[in-house]
Amino acid sequence: MTQYHTDEMPLLDVPLNREADTVTFARALGTLLRPGDVVCLWGDLGAGKSTLARALIQGQMGDDTDAPSPTFTLVQTYEAPDFDIWHFDLYRLEDPSEVLELGIEDAFAEAVSLIEWPDRLGPYMPLERLDVVISHGAGDTRELALYAPASFEARLQPLAGLLL
Ligand code: ADP
Ligand code: MG
Repeated sequence: MTQYHTDEMPLLDVPLNREADTVTFARALGTLLRPGDVVCLWGDLGAGKSTLARALIQGQMGDDTDAPSPTFTLVQTYEAPDFDIWHFDLYRLEDPSEVLELGIEDAFAEAVSLIEWPDRLGPYMPLERLDVVISHGAGDTRELALYAPASFEARLQPLAGLLL
């Protein structure tokens, strides 16, 4: 099954030496997104997928926004000023077709989708997407690789200049 775009070079490959770096990256990414964007968050349990999603949501919504992990609800939606954000955690999905009941087609069409455990999407995984792959390092260190189709390159260029 297609996972992330491993056959390509990552657009970006950065060390995240502490949680604050993940937050900085997430907030910057949030400012570059547009309705219809799908961001798949790959990584093991504890990698920092929810931390990244929460920071992106708070960057768009305000720092006091409560952004609980959608572990049991599978999805939490937010009305940010520039776009709605649908934060999915598909870990507990039993069959890919359940994402249709969650309204994922509406999210893909009109909102920004942040998706934890995207492998669960099966055939509903969109080809046009950003893949953020977080790997665990020692302690609080993580490594982040960002894969995206060439059409995103110019738009995501500002991320290359982030000082982490
Ligand atoms: P996931 O959603 O991938 O299972 P979470 O974001 O829920 O992971 O948990 C990540 C945990 O790791 C949190 O407790 C967070 O405080 C901690 N953490 C430590 N260092 C980092 C880092 N560099 N980036 C993200 N989270 C980190
Ligand atoms: Mg999580």
